[in-house]
Amino acid sequence: MAHIKGMRFFDPHIHMTSRTTDDYQAMADAGIVALIEPAFWLGQPRTGLATFKDYYASLVGWERFRSSQFGIKHYCTIGLNSREANNEALAEEVMELLPLFAYKEGVVGIGEIGFDDQTAAEEKFYRAQLELAKEANLPVQIHTPHRNKKEGTERSMAIALEHGLDPGMVIVDHNNEETVKSVLDRGFWAAFTIYPFTKMGNERMVEVVRQYGPGRIMVNSAADWGISDPLAVPKTAALMVMRGISPDAIRLVTYQNAIDAFAQSGQINEADFATPMLIDQSEKFNGNTILRGGQQPRRDASSLLIK
Ligand SMILES: [Zn+2]
Repeated sequence: MAHIKGMRFFDPHIHMTSRTTDDYQAMADAGIVALIEPAFWLGQPRTGLATFKDYYASLVGWERFRSSQFGIKHYCTIGLNSREANNEALAEEVMELLPLFAYKEGVVGIGEIGFDDQTAAEEKFYRAQLELAKEANLPVQIHTPHRNKKEGTERSMAIALEHGLDPGMVIVDHNNEETVKSVLDRGFWAAFTIYPFTKMGNERMVEVVRQYGPGRIMVNSAADWGISDPLAVPKTAALMVMRGISPDAIRLVTYQNAIDAFAQSGQINEADFATPMLIDQSEKFNGNTILRGGQQPRRDASSLLIK
């Protein structure tokens, strides 16, 4: 980690609801200053509308507060994920709920939406949410399927274009070597998730940046409740330093490009995280703190690294 000392990172895709305070601390120590938490599914299907409502409320409420207690600026995207689009009756109700959250402060896009099994229901609600994004003038964060990825990615882009979306407002996620060229050629943003042990390792990521350059490419962890690594972005940056990728290119793919893409929402002000945030862990959110009985709050006036 000595290679990335002093660098700052933006992870544009991470599900902090599933992560621990140790993860937050490690992320802050590694230089992550801001993140985006896309709305996703929770590992098992929700059975009613109220749990969607509470989940979205937590993304703009408690989780944002928890992140702030480690000096990390938290943004989110709001959407109905593709898996749960297949419960059509419930999905219809969720669609009514989405506008109530999409316009809230700190919501930087509609996401993550797109295809999982590529069913008709998934397509229906993907299209409906593209219309919501257009209406709200928000960027779109597309989850591409893990099965039939190439086909699903092409289909996702074609439908977005059919709905008149500007590719510059669309971030296509979970790319690999097979999809990246087409995504960039069509003018979309190409996000890459670094998955431990499977799909996209960070050595392959280094080669993608070497081959295509840093333009419109961004790296994320997509860390969630499964086996994943919340330090994937800083670790990839460190590997890029070791492999001779230029500092400018590293900064673009691990920080600036994600900011430029999602700042089109009008909801990101880099000044909010350009300098270390003041941390006061005695603060409360609706009467609750991250401290447990007897724990002393950490109050940092200047450095994030004071233990
Ligand atoms: Zn995700």
